[in-house]
Amino acid sequence: MNNAGTRYKQLPDDARCLDCGYRLFTNESGVCPECGRLFYSHDPTTFRVGDQPGAWRAWARPPTMFECIAIFIFGVLILWGSSSPPEHSSVLFSLSMICGGVIWVPIVIVFFCRVAAVWADRRRANHSAMTYDRRRAGRWLVVPIFLLVIISQLLYPWALVLRFRLSRDAFEQAAKDVRAGLFQTPRRVGLYSVRSVQTNGSSIDFVTGDSLIDPAGFQYTPNGPWIPHGTHRIGMSVARDWNTVDL
Ligand SMILES: [Zn+2]
Repeated sequence: MNNAGTRYKQLPDDARCLDCGYRLFTNESGVCPECGRLFYSHDPTTFRVGDQPGAWRAWARPPTMFECIAIFIFGVLILWGSSSPPEHSSVLFSLSMICGGVIWVPIVIVFFCRVAAVWADRRRANHSAMTYDRRRAGRWLVVPIFLLVIISQLLYPWALVLRFRLSRDAFEQAAKDVRAGLFQTPRRVGLYSVRSVQTNGSSIDFVTGDSLIDPAGFQYTPNGPWIPHGTHRIGMSVARDWNTVDL
């Protein structure tokens, strides 16, 4: 397989390593003295010439540090946004999925191009010994972990349930304080910040944030199922007597 137009009998004068850009001098096939990547003088996809971008093979390398950091930041934003009510539509979750997608979707696409290039690169028998920088091997994990986080959150918002469970004792105490008239907002409750409180009969709404449209939070209904009224939309159960609510 050779899809580049030019064949070289010997290495061009300004041949450079695909990975690190090191100037390659020997006309024999060989190994880049700087990073250890193999090149073949008869195969122009294994090196680049001057400032020309490399062939498809240049994609056969781990994601850049920029890609890893951007994906990591969006992973944290999406996970944190996903742990805020209402499930799948807190402001932070929605914005980092929709607007942030302008950044992370292309990085994910590039990641799969890189995987395909490595796969095609290794498939060639004469490149079976192609070496890859093992120090950067961990970078291959960042995008798969990121996708695992997003998909698992969409299937079940475990970050929301986990964060609430860790805050549950504080919310139970807060409910007592509301009944006793001792609760003043804004107040930190567990891992959430409560902005305001509404009581409807025996139920209590703790507003902790917003969806794209409405305030949202957790509703405490100690006396059995809550009877809907107004624009309230009850979401998922996060613990016994506790649901997410969209006001
Ligand atoms: Zn090199």
